[in-house]
Amino acid sequence: MNRYLEKVLNEVKTKNEHEKEYIQAVDEVLTTLEPVIEKHCEYEQMALLERMVEPERLITFRVPYVNDAGQTIVHRGYRVQYSSLIGPYKGGLRFHPSVNQSIMKFLGFEQIFKNALTGLPIGGGKGGSDFDPKGKSDGEIMRFCQSFMTELQRHIGQDVDVPAGDIGVGEREIGYLFGQYKRIKDAYEGGVLTGKGLSYGGSLARKEATGYGLMYFMREMLNANGQSLEGKTAVISGSGNVAIYACQKAQELGVKVIAMSDSQGCIYDKNGINLELIKQIKEVNRGRISEYKNAQYLESKAIWGIKADIALPCATQNEVTLEDAKKLVANGVIAIGEGANMPCTKEATEYFLANNVLVAPAKASNAGGVATSAIEMSQNSMRYYLTFEEVDKMLENIMINIFKSCQKAAEEYGLGNNYVAGANIAAFRKLAKAMKAQGIV
Ligand code: NDP
Repeated sequence: MNRYLEKVLNEVKTKNEHEKEYIQAVDEVLTTLEPVIEKHCEYEQMALLERMVEPERLITFRVPYVNDAGQTIVHRGYRVQYSSLIGPYKGGLRFHPSVNQSIMKFLGFEQIFKNALTGLPIGGGKGGSDFDPKGKSDGEIMRFCQSFMTELQRHIGQDVDVPAGDIGVGEREIGYLFGQYKRIKDAYEGGVLTGKGLSYGGSLARKEATGYGLMYFMREMLNANGQSLEGKTAVISGSGNVAIYACQKAQELGVKVIAMSDSQGCIYDKNGINLELIKQIKEVNRGRISEYKNAQYLESKAIWGIKADIALPCATQNEVTLEDAKKLVANGVIAIGEGANMPCTKEATEYFLANNVLVAPAKASNAGGVATSAIEMSQNSMRYYLTFEEVDKMLENIMINIFKSCQKAAEEYGLGNNYVAGANIAAFRKLAKAMKAQGIV
């Protein structure tokens, strides 16, 4: 490996030795940048990589709330303001018991590159809490969100830092967060949060955007490699926001989705998933996927052992291991589309690429969500609403352009159809240019 890259990577490992997801994310990016770094020896003198891997600011705070039983519970809140290089910090909030500093930093680091790929003026950030919304009443969710925002509000603003949803944070939570922000600030700053409800400044097609965007990217990637989505079978992990709308667009584009999952199990319906039923169970009833009848019910991880042409991991990080990758390849998978952030381990990704499986990397393929959030911010600034068709068309064009950037960068560096490296290089070049222009900050 290039000596400068190796030095930075070693420093990251030493300084953050307990943060395994963060180290993994940095390792995955830096190791693909070698051909670019080789061409730019000036980066070392200006500590460009050292500055890129260090968050501008990392905030942690106490979030106490009173549950329905009258007990006071204390959680930890986070906001990582990673990079304001090309726009206000932008990235979602995750409420899940697994949330910790390492997961926040990995997500924030990935977000800088993702947001750069959208071509829109948004920096990178991420936040959340180790609070688990599952099984909580609406009242408990509201009180938690109000407490979380009471602290977060001093760090965000529509031109400063704009959070959105992620795992465990959907329209309901964004509503409670927005209400509390507005109450404290005594001003209507519509663009301070995205993923809002349609009745108070949300954007049409934001809910669908990450899943739809993933499928637009998949279509472009397959077409560029002489394949098409039409008539293919797919398995989709998760049954949350990203998974549901990836399934919807996949079905519209002629794909037969035969399995979906949640954190407790997986359903295999060889006749094709009935998405309306999934929406009723997950979006309306907030129930378990096991309530989907007339399908085989398996354990969550079994989804990667089901034979399909396409696999779309849309649940969480590191859900596809090398062992899972081997099963998928043995069953003839032709393409992987990352809907979740960093769902494939580095070893799994390398195995796919070595076996000529096309990989749509999360930074590029799930960027449709944040891109549409930026379109929501624009509508808020204009005090205007675009139609569903207008937003969807903008999203589709953005995804086509992201694919082209990944393809062009990969081709330029002789990397064939390695879009994982292509995405990292395309985003890095844009960020490096902006860093050089802005001096040592
Ligand atoms: P949701 O909370 O809506 O859904 C998450 C889904 O994944 C649920 O079905 C959940 O199961 C499942 N899941 C969560 N954790 C695990 C786990 N440890 N093992 C197995 N299954 C799990 O989240 P989103 O759909 O919004 O997010 C999914 C992924 O997509 C995340 O990686 C997120 O960072 C990424 N993403 C989201 C974007 C967005 O716009 N929402 C944008 C870009 C990326 P259960 O129902 O049992 O909890």
